[in-house]
Amino acid sequence: MKLVLDFDEVLFKTREMKGHFTRILERLGVDPRMTELLYMKHRETGIPFSLKRFLWAVAIRTDIGEVAEPHVYEEIMKGCATFTNHELVRLIKPFGRENIIILTNGDKEYQMEKIKRSIGEDFASDIIVVKGSKKEALHTICKNHNKSQIIFVEDQPKFLDDLDVDNVKNLTTILFGMTGVEDVKEAIKKHSHHTKKRKH
Ligand SMILES: [Mg+2]
Repeated sequence: MKLVLDFDEVLFKTREMKGHFTRILERLGVDPRMTELLYMKHRETGIPFSLKRFLWAVAIRTDIGEVAEPHVYEEIMKGCATFTNHELVRLIKPFGRENIIILTNGDKEYQMEKIKRSIGEDFASDIIVVKGSKKEALHTICKNHNKSQIIFVEDQPKFLDDLDVDNVKNLTTILFGMTGVEDVKEAIKKHSHHTKKRKH
C-alpha cells in the first residue's frame, strides 16, 4: 500500500497559516480587509500562490515597504511547524517514508519551503508539485506501483473529479474533510486487511 497525500488542508492547516500572516501584516499596519482583498486578487490570477510574491504585492499596494523585507517572510514561515496536521502525521508516519508520496498543487518554491518547515522533506519518498491537474502524476504513480493499492487523500473535489478511477484499479480516493483522519484510518485498515489475506 502506498499513501499519496495532498499537502494544503490535508497535511498542513493552510487556512490557519493565512490567519497567521494576516495578523503579522496587521501589526505592520495592513488592514486585514486589505490582506483579504489582495489575497483574493492574487488567487484570481490563477498563478500558483507564492508568499514572497504576495508580500511584494501587499507592500506596493499599501506603500508599507517593510512588508516585503526578508525578516517578515521569515517570521511568517517560522509559523509553519505550528500548522502541521499532527493527528494525520501521527497516523501515517508508521508506514514509513518509502510508502508515502506528497502530491501537491502550487508554486514549487513555496510548497517546498512549507513542507521543509513543517513535516520535513524526509517525511515522503517523493514530493511532486504540479501546477494544474493531478491526474497525470497520480496515474503515473498507480502505474509505477501497480502491485500496490494506492490511497490518494485530497481535500479538493476538483482534483478527484478528473481522475479515471474506473480504469485505474489500484486507486482508492479519499475526500479529506471534517472526518478526514477517520476516513484515512478506515481505508488503511481495509487495505492492510486485504494485503494480509492475500498472503495466506
Ligand atoms: Mg489541498
